[in-house]
Amino acid sequence: MKYISTRGQAESLDFEGVTLTGLARDGGLYVPEEIPTFSADDIRAMRGKTYAEVAFEVIAPFVGDCLSEAELKRMLDATYDENYGGQFRHPAVAPLVQTGANDWLLELFHGPTLAFKDFALQLLGRFFDHFTAKRGEKLTILGATSGDTGSAAIKGCRGRDNVSIFMLHPKGRVSEVQRRQMTSVLEDNVVNIAVEGNFDDCQALVKASFNDLAFRDKVGLTAVNSINWARVMAQIVYYFTSAVALGAPDRAVSYSVPTGNFGDIFAGYIASKMGLPIEKLVIATNSNDILARTLATGRYERGDVYSTLSPSMDIQISSNFERMLFDIAGRDAGVIRRYMDDLASTGGFTLDKEHHDALKTLFAAERVDDETTKAVMQELHASGGYIADPHTAVGIEAANTCLPDDGAPRVTLSTAHPAKFGEAVKEATGVESALPHHMADLMDRKERMMTLPNDLAALQARVLEGNWS
Ligand SMILES: *Cc1c(COP(=O)(O)O)cnc(C)c1O
Repeated sequence: MKYISTRGQAESLDFEGVTLTGLARDGGLYVPEEIPTFSADDIRAMRGKTYAEVAFEVIAPFVGDCLSEAELKRMLDATYDENYGGQFRHPAVAPLVQTGANDWLLELFHGPTLAFKDFALQLLGRFFDHFTAKRGEKLTILGATSGDTGSAAIKGCRGRDNVSIFMLHPKGRVSEVQRRQMTSVLEDNVVNIAVEGNFDDCQALVKASFNDLAFRDKVGLTAVNSINWARVMAQIVYYFTSAVALGAPDRAVSYSVPTGNFGDIFAGYIASKMGLPIEKLVIATNSNDILARTLATGRYERGDVYSTLSPSMDIQISSNFERMLFDIAGRDAGVIRRYMDDLASTGGFTLDKEHHDALKTLFAAERVDDETTKAVMQELHASGGYIADPHTAVGIEAANTCLPDDGAPRVTLSTAHPAKFGEAVKEATGVESALPHHMADLMDRKERMMTLPNDLAALQARVLEGNWS
């Protein structure tokens, strides 16, 4: 399997190459040259398989011959199977919970850091380890987090010999639990940096560092953000397990996905391209609604970033949307370069009508403000005792608004454990959501981090210093 850049001017790479590279050298994102497909019978045969077994079926074609079957199986078992050390604390790994006659939540927060990011990042850490050992190379991971990527990536990479990880978060704009999950990891190869700016500033610093090719080569830079293809790939799996559990391929399913960087929902789109019958994908956004506006108007235009109750989605520039555009533009890299040039020079671009129309057939979108988010959490708790985190609540509201309740089963991705956003949960429901036992002492743990201005030179200087000493 080969991977090509959405901007068409970087060399194509195999799976090992894209995993270690992250952003393409022409500024684009890597996508598989061809999307593998499954027949209805292939999908039917997934019934009754474990999560790790389905993961193998879905992931193997993307990995190609970069890993042997046995190596890949071992990594998937170690990540997703409790019997082999997997750290997802639910036997189904990604369980479905029914909340209405036609409504389900897909709980993706049973991993070690309590958000869906664990599905990809616990596996990505194993890929890094394997490929760096094989090459005898060292890696520097530079990431930006709106809260959840950081802790999951740090968990996947802490203490690994060949890896240093620098994680940027917007100072004061992540929840206290999110911050402490990152900063309480004290290994010397984990450097947490609070940036005086918002998440988009952090993401821009990361992208600028990748586009500085001299710097990039000097430190062996790699990405853990969802610009790294392996992240998207790992997230395709739970669309398959959940749709199959609800009757696929003989019944279509719709998904509502709390969306920020467009990685999780893009995985759903790839699942549908692979043959999974998905009727509709709903882009659920908070007040940072660039994607909802784009769907409504055909114009993608950067707005101000607002701090909301669902901080992991406080993003205006959705990186993975570029992958989506590449596909609906018939994989014409020239179109993507035109859109991205406009974005860089004027802060926005207008979709060609055919691209806008194609988006509207596949996707629906809804913007949900904080008041409504709280009302949804309150109502769900009052009606059945279920406690949803604010990101999930945004998804539930968007599902109710955009999808008919007598159509395909409506599955909302539940992207985080409520205790990660305990303050918002308490405000909406009056309930104190307890952290799981293995994290009960989080608020007492020692923290280690530093603050930097929103400045590329300052960041690069710190990265060049390397691990804490
Ligand atoms: C990262 C995150 C999202 C957004 O996912 P994207 O892949 O960036 O669209 C939604 N909810 C939670 C809890 C997250 O951590």
